[in-house]
Amino acid sequence: MSDPIDLGFGVRVELHRLHGALRSITYWHPCVTGSDRASWVPLRPHNPHGWDVLTETPLTLSPALVCRACGLRGVVRNGAWQPSTEIKKT
Ligand SMILES: [Zn+2]
Repeated sequence: MSDPIDLGFGVRVELHRLHGALRSITYWHPCVTGSDRASWVPLRPHNPHGWDVLTETPLTLSPALVCRACGLRGVVRNGAWQPSTEIKKT
């Protein structure tokens, strides 16, 4: 466990490690529900269906993250949230 990292745009992320290896993340964002919605995201290679970690420090993930509740889309790049209007599977 780590302290949440502020990515900007009200988005924060917490990294979950096991034996030093990054396994998953949880990110929070202001949602239409009015609450701070938490989403869990599995990561490769531990989870083959997860997101790719391009760099850990600063954090860069692929592809974009999407909230099904409010339609929020964005990519985590160089430790910052970048709002995105398209979903790219790279
Ligand atoms: Zn949302």
